[in-house]
Amino acid sequence: MRSEISQLARLLRRHRPALALTGAGVSTESGIPDFRSPETGLYAQYDPLEYLSLRALESRPQVFWEFFARHYGALNGVQPNRGHLALARLETAGYLSAVVTQNIDGLHQKAGTRRVLEVHGHLRTVRCTACPQHYPLAVALEQVQAGCLPTCPDCGGRLRPNVVLFGDMMPPAFTEASSLVRQSALVVVVGSSLAVSPANYLAWEARRLVIINREMTAADGEADLVIRGEAGETLTALVEELKIP
Ligand code: NAD
Repeated sequence: MRSEISQLARLLRRHRPALALTGAGVSTESGIPDFRSPETGLYAQYDPLEYLSLRALESRPQVFWEFFARHYGALNGVQPNRGHLALARLETAGYLSAVVTQNIDGLHQKAGTRRVLEVHGHLRTVRCTACPQHYPLAVALEQVQAGCLPTCPDCGGRLRPNVVLFGDMMPPAFTEASSLVRQSALVVVVGSSLAVSPANYLAWEARRLVIINREMTAADGEADLVIRGEAGETLTALVEELKIP
């Protein structure tokens, strides 16, 4: 792995600032399960399409919100891990222009990354489907806990999470991410199976592509360099290799 880290360091020196594209794998070391890791991923127990889709929210809102509250209601206290921290240091040192993330957990911001594009939304707030109001996620979770469907305190409309559900339109952050990919000489993917469209197109559009992942990904064949390893360990070694103080 040492020589692969040196290779990645060379690419970053030559093509800085690169763009990082992260997935659920960067947060597993913080204790948040991803979707597709065998045994520990959410897919091992559920079909996320059945629970985290627009259709599920509309046709079975009680089931949707109970699932959502169980899996994403208690992430407030979760801390960034050394992978997130290393990415923040790479940005500060000028090796990264931004982190584009498919994650909704807010851990890149907590780690100190300044420019984060959340292409699948976030867990900070929910929004009303009938009026323009947004509220902290806790407003919805309290109602779920009380056995009610989350409704807008202002107009009584249904609330929904500010995450991108299967079947939703992509947010403006995705368009911004696509244009950043086109401007970047190098994209480094960390902890994503690259199986979720259209976020995975960002990897395919990259001029040069590096993939850091525990297992094979859908774009390994397209990559200039694949590092099969743990996100935290690999990124920490990269920061050391680049001698970032
Ligand atoms: P995924 O589950 O499809 O793939 C994660 C990949 O990361 C897997 O290939 C796995 O082998 C790898 N991985 C896991 N732990 C790793 C580690 N420590 N080091 C290196 N590699 C590791 O996730 P995805 O590609 O991001 O797509 C799934 C969707 O699920 C995304 O849209 C994302 O929004 C959502 N999701 C987000 C979170 C979160 O916010 N933390 C958690 C679960 C799912």
